[in-house]
Amino acid sequence: MMAQYLEIKAEHQDALLFYRMGDFYEMFFDDAVAAAEALDIALTKRGKHDGADIPMCGVPVHAAEGYFLTLIRKGFRVAVCEQMESPAEAKKRGSKSVVKREVVRLVTPGTLTEDALLEARRHNFLAAFSEVRDQSALAWADISTGAFHVMPLHRARLGPELARLAPSELIVTDGATDGLHDIANDLGVALSPLGRASFDSTAAEKRLCALFSVGTLEAFGSFGRAEISAMGALIDYLELTQKGRLPLLQTPVRESEDRVVQIDAATRRNLELTRSLAGSRAGSLLAVIDRTVTPGGARLLEQRLSSPSRNLDILQSRLAAVDFAIEQDRLSGDLRAALRKTPDLDRALSRLSLDRGGPRDLAAVRNALEQAAAIARHCQACELPPLLASAVSDLTGFDDLSALLDAALVAEPPLLTRDGGFVAAGYDPDLDEARTLRDEGRSVIAGLQKRYAEHTGIASLKIKHNNVLGYFIETTSTHAEKMLSAPLSESYIHRQTTANQVRFTTVELSEMETKILNAGNRALEIEKRLYEGLRGSILDQAARLNGAARALAELDLAAALADLARAENWCRPRVDSGRSFAITGGRHPVVEQALRQQGGDSFIANDCDLTATSGAAIWLLTGPNMAGKSTFLRQNALIALLAQIGSYVPAASAHIGVISQLFSRVGASDDLARGRSTFMVEMVETAAILNQADDRALVILDEIGRGTATYDGLSIAWATLEHLHASNQCRALFATHYHELTALAGKLPGVDNATVAVKEWQGEVIFLHEVRKGAADRSYGVQVAQLAGLPQSVLDRARVVLKALEEGEREGGATQKALIDDLPLFSAAPPPLPAPVASPALDLLESIHPDELSPKAALDLIYKLKEAA
Ligand code: ADP
Repeated sequence: MMAQYLEIKAEHQDALLFYRMGDFYEMFFDDAVAAAEALDIALTKRGKHDGADIPMCGVPVHAAEGYFLTLIRKGFRVAVCEQMESPAEAKKRGSKSVVKREVVRLVTPGTLTEDALLEARRHNFLAAFSEVRDQSALAWADISTGAFHVMPLHRARLGPELARLAPSELIVTDGATDGLHDIANDLGVALSPLGRASFDSTAAEKRLCALFSVGTLEAFGSFGRAEISAMGALIDYLELTQKGRLPLLQTPVRESEDRVVQIDAATRRNLELTRSLAGSRAGSLLAVIDRTVTPGGARLLEQRLSSPSRNLDILQSRLAAVDFAIEQDRLSGDLRAALRKTPDLDRALSRLSLDRGGPRDLAAVRNALEQAAAIARHCQACELPPLLASAVSDLTGFDDLSALLDAALVAEPPLLTRDGGFVAAGYDPDLDEARTLRDEGRSVIAGLQKRYAEHTGIASLKIKHNNVLGYFIETTSTHAEKMLSAPLSESYIHRQTTANQVRFTTVELSEMETKILNAGNRALEIEKRLYEGLRGSILDQAARLNGAARALAELDLAAALADLARAENWCRPRVDSGRSFAITGGRHPVVEQALRQQGGDSFIANDCDLTATSGAAIWLLTGPNMAGKSTFLRQNALIALLAQIGSYVPAASAHIGVISQLFSRVGASDDLARGRSTFMVEMVETAAILNQADDRALVILDEIGRGTATYDGLSIAWATLEHLHASNQCRALFATHYHELTALAGKLPGVDNATVAVKEWQGEVIFLHEVRKGAADRSYGVQVAQLAGLPQSVLDRARVVLKALEEGEREGGATQKALIDDLPLFSAAPPPLPAPVASPALDLLESIHPDELSPKAALDLIYKLKEAA
């Protein structure tokens, strides 16, 4: 067995080998050590190899899924090695034969299909990046839903695209991973290097043609060499990890970068689109707007939010769908009620295709089709907008399959095929017959028990069943005598004596048992065959079923966005190809919800007008910290994004000329892991914006230059603003604490000043959160510090320094330094501590040496202290 183990292990060096032994997966040697540590399970020993103990650990097969997940999260991959025959079959081949074993699957982050291992509401993408001469491309697929995409992609754009798709695994050419580790680490993507041969584009083309049974790939679009190579590598990797069983992939959809709004990784993070800064879904925009009721709908929403569209036709059709769902309140309600009952069709299909499914997946397809039909009926009489009409038509045409599954399956089938019991009575005459025989046998046995009890006069006699003995007669030891003295007692054959029981059988009973067993086995065989038949009927229609799943997701999303718009009082945005950006009464959906949950102040809505007729349109926003500048900046970016996923937006009105790119530089966080300071991160991100933003971009810059000395920072902010205005000519919001910049508004035609208003009252600031035209008069930093609870002495001192600096500035920079030098050093020194008061108790305390005290002496001392106080 060890020889077999080592042979298999040699082929799977980079994975932990889960070696099946009966009801356990066992690991040996270094695998065992690593797995025991990662899984926190016991490490034991088994036998010796080259004279040394073999470390071993194991997990039960029925609980293996959970262990896979833990290992994958910790960066391992797992090779699952199964027994390909029973021990009995092995014996037949020769008494010393080892059971045949094979690796049937490699478990990697991008190739999961089990519900337990996947987040229902998120896609799980596997991606492949390929470079062929001067072209490069990215392909990606979700094998749990069958989605398959590809696009040409320059290496420099790989980071942002990976940030958009958030795949869990990226396949790259072995030896060409330079610079990819950083990107992958940053985004939490596992890198899987694959040999060059897998990327060969000629072989890839053949592989793809074979997979989709076409003579040429041109049927799906015209692909470049790099795209074909990336898709081919992905398929090769799937073949490798799934050991030849390929998932149902849909035909590849070619995407291009210019169809979606470009958003880089930093911007996504800053705006907390799908993950909050803390890394969780809670607190993100996605969490706040997600009202979908199916996993498929939720996945679609996340996908849309990650890839807002730039195509006006698409946006208008999605908005029309939401409009309709809002108007047809009743219908939407019925629709959502049906959707709530709809299982995850995509994922059931993929498990069936990989032969990892069971009766419940058949039932999931049946139930989904039943709801799909109900939805189509609800919509029958309605004049649907095109997007919904086409979705609903994709739900129809499954009557035959539906009827088949309906007739074949019981209402709630068991999890495993091998247990049987999932095919409904009346569906298959042979099965019914076998089951009747089996069940009759059982009732015959009940009759036998009665007869034997009467015959022996032992009322408590029972016929029982276990896996070792099969059926047997059982009686307590005290009654055993009675049995053996009964008339015809020779017909009771003794089988076993336990502590309290004695067990017998009879010829009659064992004959009956064989009959039941045979009938039961036959029933199971028939059920297995029927399962394969039903699975085949479903997979024959896989492509159309995938279409139905997509349609269900589309309907769910339209109804969910309608529900959101109605409940939150959002408006339909006007989207066109111009360069408008006019928002009235805009709100930040996440902050608004947080304020509501806190039950305090309500959110103050604000207008924003960045409509650009020619050149740039930039608002320069000043105002104290905590006034609401960042919130305002972000809310406008989010409104634009929401409009471009085809949703209503949190505003009273919105007119937005489609944006092509969204950039944000908001807040500052050190990137210590990569050894970059706050300032460096800020400059890298700013550089990316200034180099890339075009005249359709929306740019949001918050506190540029904050991370360095005042004059450096001011100069950089100044030059950045001028560059945005003159070169990028984009629409931008620019928040700054450098009041000096407000002078630019007078000089540059596209720049306007705005400020977030505050009121000063009795020396304190009150935040009004109102954005108005004009510049802030001062920054109120000291007042904000006071709110934060800085000690009074520090605040007093800060006021003195501030006054000196301001006077200095007014009188010219040269005197400023002198003035600071002149500042009385201790003008705001903390009040002196009160002089110590003489006290006998304190004197006593002075004289104590705790180390030398016994407990008793300590107690005495306390009495003395009390007296002296
Ligand atoms: P700044 O960027 O000016 O320092 P923030 O945008 O971080 O300020 O806002 C500070 C806090 O003020 C937010 O956490 C939020 O609670 C509150 N706030 C911001 N804008 C509004 C608003 N429009 N209405 C109500 N509260 C707001």
